[in-house]
Amino acid sequence: MLTKFNLANFHGFGNTMVSRISNLKFSKMETAATHTNNQLLGSEIFENFKQAFIGDLITSDHSDYDQQRQLWNGMIDKKPQLIAQCYGVSDVIRTVNFARDNNLLVAVRGGGHNVAGNAMNDDGIVIDLSQMRAVLVNPNQKTAIVQGGAIWRDVDRETQVFSLACAGGVVSDTGVGGLTLGGGLSWFRRKAGMSIDNLVRAQVVLADGSCVSASAEENQDLFWAIRGGGGNFGIVTSFEFNLYDLGPEVMFAACMYPRSAAQKVMDFWVEFTRDLPDEMTTDCLHWSIPEHEAFPKELHGKPVTALAGMYFGSPEEGRKALQPLREVAEPLLDLSNVYPYAAVNQMFDAFLVKGTLNSYWKSLYVDDLSDDLIKLILDKVNNSPSPQSLLSIRNLQGALSRVGASETAFGDRSGRFLVSIDTMWTDQDDDANNIQWTREFFSELHKHSGGQVYFNFNSDMSGSDNLAEDSYGSNYQKLVEIKTKYDPENFFRLNANIKPRS
Ligand SMILES: Cc1cc2nc3c(=O)[nH]c(=O)nc-3n(C[C@H](O)[C@H](O)[C@H](O)COP(=O)(O)OP(=O)(O)OC[C@H]3O[C@@H](n4cnc5c(N)ncnc54)[C@H](O)[C@@H]3O)c2cc1C
Repeated sequence: MLTKFNLANFHGFGNTMVSRISNLKFSKMETAATHTNNQLLGSEIFENFKQAFIGDLITSDHSDYDQQRQLWNGMIDKKPQLIAQCYGVSDVIRTVNFARDNNLLVAVRGGGHNVAGNAMNDDGIVIDLSQMRAVLVNPNQKTAIVQGGAIWRDVDRETQVFSLACAGGVVSDTGVGGLTLGGGLSWFRRKAGMSIDNLVRAQVVLADGSCVSASAEENQDLFWAIRGGGGNFGIVTSFEFNLYDLGPEVMFAACMYPRSAAQKVMDFWVEFTRDLPDEMTTDCLHWSIPEHEAFPKELHGKPVTALAGMYFGSPEEGRKALQPLREVAEPLLDLSNVYPYAAVNQMFDAFLVKGTLNSYWKSLYVDDLSDDLIKLILDKVNNSPSPQSLLSIRNLQGALSRVGASETAFGDRSGRFLVSIDTMWTDQDDDANNIQWTREFFSELHKHSGGQVYFNFNSDMSGSDNLAEDSYGSNYQKLVEIKTKYDPENFFRLNANIKPRS
């Protein structure tokens, strides 16, 4: 794959959601192909496009078609007319122009991880960035330019050579594109804020086929909007990030307690996170130990409540600072240790393999974990229909919440915790049961929250008309204005859609 990067085009700046769940009230509005043009593929227009396109054009008769339309969420089974695997910015521009001129529904694919499945569509065209994965680090300036289809493993590999790190994802094949545009929560989010808070500049291909730069100096409105506004405004062909001195080794805590100790563990963690230094980022996770060779066989399937966290700083200081997470009760398994930073971001990879799990996720910010909310969470996780599911609670605040709600499109950051119901299972016969369970859990969780969701952990982002409005709060009207300016026809609509003024 690496050999296919087209560095010549790398600017250094100077449907239906699967039919089997359609009866569960998924809105077809945004997923159905409203611009199908079945005659197009054999036409002269298409042949001309093909001549000029450098990358691979994958149609349903291509031997790789099924492999290339597979997204991370195993439940997504969409069949586009064409997957245009771009090798550079010129391919992206050509494809945008081709799709717009021929009225094709467009999906944009970065790392393909988003559980909502908007990186594919039925009968439309997919602008696939997965071959645009170059990362160029400037160790003196401590910045990196990252192509729009890179995954976080690419970034860690190139930055860690210089003991530098970018605030990105904790599963290494997650895409830089979708994660960043939706916010971006890393293992040092309390020190560095979100990924968007470290974005210096982006190169964006707009719906009219023009290519612009967005930063604090140029197209400031677009720069504001892409920091949290998702893929609504254009295709980001490259991101420039500020980097941090970190690694190669860090202290990481991963202590798994039996579920019987969950109440004690959560009570402890709520107090522990009340006044932490920014260097400490921690999560509380309810999970079952996977049936995987990485774990002792006798522990397979055991329900656990785990405390995990990373220390931003020296491993020695980190060992002391994170020690209390390991002493709450008698652990079933304690994997805490000093690890290479890049390995920390690969720790979950083996259990979250692309295409292997059907997934339906929902998340909400909460200001506190009250006794009632802890009771709700424990009642639910103890009666989860699937052992593969993960209930993750991320402690926020720190640098992340010191960015004002109107400074970026992302909006309010005052929530102390993000609760994410990451429901995952393997058998498609269990789809309905798991989706129903997640929705019921979410509606009860909603009573404890202001209603703001994290779009990066949300399966229904195009299923509810008011979701974007509710979540962006007072930033929503400004987002509508910017959307109307940059994408008046709503060309980029397969996302947490902000509709332009008609
Ligand atoms: C296993 C797993 C682990 C995760 N871990 C984290 C984590 O640690 N932290 C976190 O914050 N989130 C995490 N996420 C959520 C993740 O941020 C979102 O799923 C995100 O949308 C993934 O981006 P992607 O490029 O891989 O997805 P895709 O599905 O390819 O893209 C999602 C959407 O983003 C837009 N998009 C993507 N790339 C571009 C681009 N270059 N230009 C314009 N639009 C683009 C498109 O609208 C697209 O539909 C995780 C998700 C999974 C499944």
